[in-house]
Amino acid sequence: MPYISGYKVPPLSWEKISAKTETIREAMDCKDKKFFPLMPFLEFILPKIFGVLLDPLEDENLPDAEALTWPSRKIIQVKESVYNRAINSDGASRMILAHEIGHFFMHEDVPYCKNRNPSLKAYESSEWQANCFAGELLAPARMLTQYNGSREDLYEVIGLYGVSLSAAEKQIKRAKEKYHHKYLTKIAPLKIQVTA
Ligand SMILES: [Zn+2]
Repeated sequence: MPYISGYKVPPLSWEKISAKTETIREAMDCKDKKFFPLMPFLEFILPKIFGVLLDPLEDENLPDAEALTWPSRKIIQVKESVYNRAINSDGASRMILAHEIGHFFMHEDVPYCKNRNPSLKAYESSEWQANCFAGELLAPARMLTQYNGSREDLYEVIGLYGVSLSAAEKQIKRAKEKYHHKYLTKIAPLKIQVTA
């Protein structure tokens, strides 16, 4: 069994997490926009609506993490280097910040189980949930159904959506799992009519 990292939190399915990110995209008026305006969201909307502050720190003052969320203090700390790269649209850095936003929206009031549990299911892992949230916020699987995961596809998704390579891979895979099947079942009856 692959080891799943993170703390045990109340379970959340991919569908529920996706519904949360879709709400945010709609509220930002960019439901179908490829490049999600992450920095304006972090620097203007989060403080204004949710009272959450983004706090870039000199790298040496945050030695153990790229970024850290303090839900009760409503602060997201981030290494200055990560913050600067995110401003310059670096996909991996945008994913780090989107992941922290996920912790804020999903794990604000939940009790973290501090015992790392080897039999933890993905959907009850804080880190799986936050990664899922980041992928869906920045590159929703529903928008990636035309890709098959070739090298060209991956670089196109990285460029258009501003995500990391691993996020592009995961989201294209998710698009196949979640939407391709539905698409096929929708067109299947039409094919039968044509051949009848
Ligand atoms: Zn995390």
